[in-house]
Amino acid sequence: MTQSEPRQPLAVVFARSNELSNSARSAVYSASTDPAGWRLAIFHLGSRSLNQPLWVLNDPAILVEIFADGYGVKGACQTLAKAFGDLERSIILMGSDSDSQSVAAELSSRTGEPIFLGVYHFDGSSIEVSNLDRSKLAVLSINFPAVALFDAIPISMGKPYDAIGEEIAYELASEGVIPLASTGSNAANDLSDASFVLCGGGGIGEPAAWKQLEELSQALGATLGATRVVTDRGWASDDIQIGASGQRIAPKVYLTFGVSGATQHLSNVELPDKVISVNTDPGCQMVAVSSLAVISDAASVAKELLHLVKEDGNAN
Ligand SMILES: Cc1cc2nc3c(=O)[nH]c(=O)nc-3n(C[C@H](O)[C@H](O)[C@H](O)COP(=O)(O)OP(=O)(O)OC[C@H]3O[C@@H](n4cnc5c(N)ncnc54)[C@H](O)[C@@H]3O)c2cc1C
Repeated sequence: MTQSEPRQPLAVVFARSNELSNSARSAVYSASTDPAGWRLAIFHLGSRSLNQPLWVLNDPAILVEIFADGYGVKGACQTLAKAFGDLERSIILMGSDSDSQSVAAELSSRTGEPIFLGVYHFDGSSIEVSNLDRSKLAVLSINFPAVALFDAIPISMGKPYDAIGEEIAYELASEGVIPLASTGSNAANDLSDASFVLCGGGGIGEPAAWKQLEELSQALGATLGATRVVTDRGWASDDIQIGASGQRIAPKVYLTFGVSGATQHLSNVELPDKVISVNTDPGCQMVAVSSLAVISDAASVAKELLHLVKEDGNAN
């Protein structure tokens, strides 16, 4: 293993049909949180743009965009070497889609650097790697060049609350559940019939933040549910408890704030494809079953999202 100092991280991602894989998005998010700065290469394969723009593109990252109908693995590595020149001294973050895997193998064999799989997070000096069941994380220091392939769960970490709020709003809008100028009038009264459920758990922290969550669910037009920790604390009534000793739900979109995803909770949730969770613990079960996991403070994100939705409502 080379002893040379690694250079700024480089995120290398592949867009097919204008889409980046979730794992590729995670790699970009993680690279962009490195205070030392980072660089980005996007290979557009048969496409010219991204359906869901990357929020980081507004940042002054060094960006190389490559447009091609197809690509050869060796050609992709040569393009990168030409653009960045110091691949053998870089920490290279990629998704775990098949395009990324083939190029990662070639990059690693060229530079002689190790490949890490199942990576959740990179913070500039260490990476967090999951077990297969995602129950535990190993934190490994990487102060040497390496190729890191991100796990498939898109995880947003270390982003400002307003950017997170926008990202969640975008996800909800893409499912057609918000409106963004919603008045709340479309929320189902009955949790068991609701297509959009917002659930709060113990991680919301305090009664005032719970009140804000109630307001958010109304503004979004979501039906509000709670975990048993919340009903036990008396913040919400028992009849909105979701889980083994509460209600059964089968929504199209499930948005949670500070919910751990305990078995007794999830056993009565028919999980939809779109599960968005805000939690401070990247290793919890709720994160493992999410299509978008936001690793951040639940009350602060809820506040920002509420602000955004209200602002949008006023604008319309
Ligand atoms: C017989 C039985 C029946 C049960 N029935 C039910 C049921 O019907 N429904 C139910 O929900 N539970 C039920 N439970 C309880 C269940 O086992 C869990 O204790 C409960 O679901 C946990 O609720 P929670 O995730 O809100 O809280 P916690 O376990 O307290 O978890 C809080 C979560 O929030 C995160 N967090 C902490 N701080 C923050 C922050 N600042 N920002 C963001 N995230 C944060 C934590 O990482 C954690 O993941 C039952 C238990 C038993 C024994």
